[in-house]
Amino acid sequence: EVRVRFAPSPTGALHIGGVRTALYNYLFARKKGGKFLLRIEDTDQNRFVPGAEAYIKSSLDWIGITPDESPWNPGDCGPYRQSERKPMYMEYARYLLEQGHAYYAFDTSEELEAMRQRLTAARVVSPQYNSITRTQMKNSLTLPADEVKARLDSGDPYVIRIKIPRKEEVRLNDMVRGWVMVHSNSLDDKVLMKSDGMPTYHLANIVDDHLMGITHVIRGEEWLPSAPLHVLLYKYLGWEDSMPQFAHLPLLLKPDGNGKLSKRDAEKHGFPIFPLNWTDPISGELVDGFRESGYLPEAFLNFLAFLGWNPGDQRELFTLDELVEAFSIERIGKSGTKFDINKAKWYNEQYLRNKSDKVLAEYLLADLKKENISVSQEKAEKIVAVMKERATFPSDLWQEGRFMVFAPKKFDEQVAAKKWNQDAIKVLTAFSVKLAAIDAVLTADLAREMLGEAAAAEGIKLGKVMQAVRLAITGVGAGPDLMQIFEILGKEELIKRIDFALD
Ligand code: GLU
Repeated sequence: EVRVRFAPSPTGALHIGGVRTALYNYLFARKKGGKFLLRIEDTDQNRFVPGAEAYIKSSLDWIGITPDESPWNPGDCGPYRQSERKPMYMEYARYLLEQGHAYYAFDTSEELEAMRQRLTAARVVSPQYNSITRTQMKNSLTLPADEVKARLDSGDPYVIRIKIPRKEEVRLNDMVRGWVMVHSNSLDDKVLMKSDGMPTYHLANIVDDHLMGITHVIRGEEWLPSAPLHVLLYKYLGWEDSMPQFAHLPLLLKPDGNGKLSKRDAEKHGFPIFPLNWTDPISGELVDGFRESGYLPEAFLNFLAFLGWNPGDQRELFTLDELVEAFSIERIGKSGTKFDINKAKWYNEQYLRNKSDKVLAEYLLADLKKENISVSQEKAEKIVAVMKERATFPSDLWQEGRFMVFAPKKFDEQVAAKKWNQDAIKVLTAFSVKLAAIDAVLTADLAREMLGEAAAAEGIKLGKVMQAVRLAITGVGAGPDLMQIFEILGKEELIKRIDFALD
């Protein structure tokens, strides 16, 4: 059975890259008829941020991808928070010590810093605690056995490090990247157990994936450099045969493709890259969310799915079920994906337009209510039916459609300078006279006919004055179908607005 997991660390708001990882895990699990787990990786207590876990949950709830097993809905492999699994890890660290694949290290932070400075002075580019340098440090590989024992017995602080072998080729066959080969000399002896008895990410991650029966590890490319270490850990723990398959997802790139997408890009360009609004409880810093910016969850989801994957044909609109059906890891790209907010907007427009006028009217009425304006349900539905073709966000229905309720008090000056002229005045005057003369309720068709007649009577081409007519009625130079607007406004209101514009 396929079992995959999303393993976020609760260190702040979940970045869009994290939500994408969750989605791909979910899609893969559903596609294969397997299980999607969520595990909170909170072994680094210095980076723990209260509220981050709730944020992760709300984000996934918003787009409708609920884990089958999680801290909030545990299965048989609990607990699902690593901090609550703390007592489970030491046994595995001990096993590695016994097998000679790990060792105790007693170096103080001053000693580690001194080593770093020594290496930097010797022009070593990235100073590491590794198979060479460990020989000069205070650890169970260099100290006499009785001293090691004495230190352990007296409660001296220590960490447990993995003993990376020299001159070994470590390989893994990544489902996205293909064969990845790393020479062990480039790896360092990562800490597995910290002095406070907490495992590090690396040990906890491998132990938990094993104990939770994980078959595929689908995660961001930033974890690819750790993968060789993880492969060694599987081997040393004797779990090579059940090692999960890896799939490292391509990076999300800045809009211009130059480097990794960051929070700074979002701030600079004023677009969201987090699913929900978030105020960091420690720094007080605010980030904008897609949800609060007016994105619909189904649009965000669809946008997200295409950040690194495509179905291999021209289709772009997918429901969650359709994504499950179409998804495959083979169709995930190797190269980074540019983040393009216009694509997100495009998706939002598609999903917004597909909603019924009744649902759209609810958005409009809610916005109106905030300003204590009331219009009938019927009128609201008519307004949104006309406005939706130009709306990107639900709030546009009202923001762009205020003229549907309020007559313009001023007119776009640039448009007026270009388009307002005697011909326009003549046509509007004639149109107004015609409007006053009819008894019938004004429909879009009737309005079109009458306006055409008014222009013809004055010997003026309607096309030449159309924008001026729009300006007179709506105050602006562009908008949705004008005849539909006329129908909604009705005869009396039109006459009033023409009078005001001609005044
Ligand atoms: N806790 C890691 C993170 O925050 C998980 C990486 C992994 O999936 O192995 O991304």
